[in-house]
Amino acid sequence: MNVEKLYKHLPVSLQNLACSLYGYKEKRKRYGKWFDYYQDLLDKTDNIDRNEIEGYQTKKLSELIKNAYDNVPYYRQVFDERNLKPIDIQSKEDLKKLPILTKEIINKSPELFLNEKFSKSNLIQIKTSGTTGKSLEFYSTKEALSFQWAVWWRHRSRFGFNYGDKHLNFTGRPVVSVEQSCPPYWRWNKAFNQALVSMQVITNDTIDDICSFINNNKFDFWVGYPSIIHNFCSLLLEKEIELKSKPKVIFLGAENIYDDQKVDIEKVTGAILTDQYGFSEGAGNASQCEYFNHHIDFEFGILECVESEELENGDLRGKIVCTGFANQAFPFIRYEVGDMGVWGSDDFECECGRVSQVLKKIEGRVEDYVVTPEGKRIMRFDYLFKDTDQIKEAQVVQRQLGSIEINIVKRKGYTSDTEDHLLGQVKDWISPNLKVSFNYVPEIPRESNGKFRAVKSELN
Ligand SMILES: [Zn+2]
Repeated sequence: MNVEKLYKHLPVSLQNLACSLYGYKEKRKRYGKWFDYYQDLLDKTDNIDRNEIEGYQTKKLSELIKNAYDNVPYYRQVFDERNLKPIDIQSKEDLKKLPILTKEIINKSPELFLNEKFSKSNLIQIKTSGTTGKSLEFYSTKEALSFQWAVWWRHRSRFGFNYGDKHLNFTGRPVVSVEQSCPPYWRWNKAFNQALVSMQVITNDTIDDICSFINNNKFDFWVGYPSIIHNFCSLLLEKEIELKSKPKVIFLGAENIYDDQKVDIEKVTGAILTDQYGFSEGAGNASQCEYFNHHIDFEFGILECVESEELENGDLRGKIVCTGFANQAFPFIRYEVGDMGVWGSDDFECECGRVSQVLKKIEGRVEDYVVTPEGKRIMRFDYLFKDTDQIKEAQVVQRQLGSIEINIVKRKGYTSDTEDHLLGQVKDWISPNLKVSFNYVPEIPRESNGKFRAVKSELN
């Protein structure tokens, strides 16, 4: 019997214990001496000036490149083929001399990426499942993991919260079985001072109990995927249930938040919503400041804008390519994450005073867009649904050129007028020639990793 199956059959008290034991194990990995070290460093570097940032990155990049050349077979080969030496790569600009790294390249021969100075037995194995099923397995160090968590906690500290504060996590993990028919629909991870609610159990039947649980427990903040928190809030709105114990801040991640989701979440919680951009490979990160701009966490890695186009206002739009400073055991150098971003121009000044570069937009996965008959690529559709409160959730799917399907989970009051309104919106905002068909569904299935995809392209 595997661990998940065993967990499913445990009584609630032992499931709580299992969650806490998992927590204590993770705590040892994430929050050891390295966490304290990086928290201290990140606190000191949060407000440094441009010259100091450049100095820091040059030093970290040189160390990373030398280490990769000396100890990682793939990079040694890449350098030798191009007649490059570590000294040739000293700045972000120099990185262009190296090729882009993709998941496919790593998957072909992952052993070439492992630093010869490390042994697998001392490393943490990480498996990611991409939304398109392109999985990746790699290794990381405890130090890198702690560095990542210190970056995430710095984001939280910008909004007044610290490690140890009581919080609620809306998780994609099935910590509560869907077959459970009475409360508690939550579990506790005492190690993190955290309660967990699984997305799978948030339904019309459980919502009253979950809401009372939250009202009885004053959580300082919430964390979770926007789509899960949105589902929760939208059920409260539908059933006109009042949330009395409101979080001050909600920390979002893993997915983009759409305007229509934001409206509902704010209506229910009145909370400040803030987001950080990261990914499992841990090779880069950007966290919002108090003015809701995503500053690149320059201490953690370099985010390059590749295949860029300059927008009218001087911003640059392109693929996000990362070089991570944290993981020396399995370095990611010029790794293509699969997301698109918009970089603010160099003279963009954020009101918070931080000068670390700003990512004005993170547009999500490169392959998630619809192509119009006019050849435009459209990545976001949320503004179509923004003024319509008769829609709970929507997903746009393109299977062939010239047409799209919109999957819709209706709310009360949805009529043929709503459909006409949406058709008009598509004509006005997207394309007058795009054919649209509607599918009405009870729910929109999540991807294998629990993520919601608002736009899905099945064009090949
Ligand atoms: Zn800022």
